[in-house]
Amino acid sequence: MVANDPRVYVYDTTLRDGEQSPGASMNPDEKLLLAMQLEKLGVDVIEAGFPICSTEDFRAVQMIAKQVREVQVAALARANPRDIDCAWEALREAACPRLNVFIAASDIHLRHQLKKSRSEVIELAVASLVHARHYTKNLEFSAMDAGRAERTFLKELFEAAIAAGAKVVNVPDTVGYSVPEELGELFRYLLAETKGIDKVILSVHCHDDLGLATANTLAAVRNGARQVKCTMNGIGERAGNAALEEVVMALATRKNFYGLETGIRTEKLFYTSQLLSRIIKMPVPPNKAIVGANAFVHESGIHQDGLLKERSTYEIMTPQSVGASECNLVLGRHSGSHAVKNALMGMGYRPTEEEVALAVQHFKQRASGCKIIGIEDLEEIFCQEVRHK
Ligand SMILES: [Zn+2]
Repeated sequence: MVANDPRVYVYDTTLRDGEQSPGASMNPDEKLLLAMQLEKLGVDVIEAGFPICSTEDFRAVQMIAKQVREVQVAALARANPRDIDCAWEALREAACPRLNVFIAASDIHLRHQLKKSRSEVIELAVASLVHARHYTKNLEFSAMDAGRAERTFLKELFEAAIAAGAKVVNVPDTVGYSVPEELGELFRYLLAETKGIDKVILSVHCHDDLGLATANTLAAVRNGARQVKCTMNGIGERAGNAALEEVVMALATRKNFYGLETGIRTEKLFYTSQLLSRIIKMPVPPNKAIVGANAFVHESGIHQDGLLKERSTYEIMTPQSVGASECNLVLGRHSGSHAVKNALMGMGYRPTEEEVALAVQHFKQRASGCKIIGIEDLEEIFCQEVRHK
């Protein structure tokens, strides 16, 4: 299976787990805007929301399902028919819908929150997957708090889920408790011992409570995970989720170690990060790996000297590879002709003053609809509305 497959699938949950980040809520229009950018970025799956939670969530999933056609769109549901029916109702118009059904797997959750026995949990998981199977075969099963679950039970739960139709089984370290060696070992165990695992994709979902989300995700991948769940800028519950840009660039930069690849167009990472930051009004810390303002800035004289002689002395990846350059700005409705002209110049155009004025006019029209707009849209406006008219 998957153990020899070099492709790692990127499942983005910025719009669901990411949005649960305190202060990061997005309205359906904003979610759609970001989803369209995630599609351009090349993620494999977009988790658009948890439809039963609110009418806003439902509407966002529905809008994204209708308009995002190139990638899979997923919705989250607890292991009960009501959640699943609602998630499907929101998803049904998607080109490639995925239902992600979850139930708790750790004894702590079973005892204190769910108040169910292990065998009841298995029964519920199976019954809900059988129910969901009537809607789609593209089913994922997530075992919440798997990081603290007993591994023999996890294996049993996954075997039952796979037999009931799950095509992806997900191991969430819901509370960010795992450490890399331990999680890697769990993946090795699941891959070796779980019946039917060779026919499905094993997935990992990490949280950053101990600052280990990226390291844990990579340890899982090294030991057989072929789907990674991430969010842009690492936003998410509490300390956040594994940052998509970090996991992707670690796999790309250290391909000599992992031998794996994703479908991400890495040169769109910086822009996507900026767009999210603008939408949720949450700045990216300057020292944030990959997408922080200082991620490619060298201050020390010795380092600068080395860079001038040969960039690889102090640079493991280029700013261009993640699209980090001065002209890669997210523009707003209030951006003036100077910013627009600079951005166009940065793309290699030499617009006349009249062309700039016309571009600003079209640009403001478009920006008033969705508030935020990026250089990609500006380029489209410039080529279609200004130069070809
Ligand atoms: Zn989570």
